[in-house]
Amino acid sequence: MTATCPECDAMIALAADVVEHEIVICTDCAAELEVIGLDPPALALAPEVGEDWGE
Ligand SMILES: [Zn+2]
Repeated sequence: MTATCPECDAMIALAADVVEHEIVICTDCAAELEVIGLDPPALALAPEVGEDWGE
């Protein structure tokens, strides 16, 4: 399963057992990305650690 980095458009390989809201690191630009969907796989920039997530 692969998804596209919203920051640099790199293709990112996702683990077969990846779950929604999991954080993955872009291998190309090292951005922290959150899995926001699985069908199809979609990524978004993760909120900064320590910030109020404010669902
Ligand atoms: Zn990237």
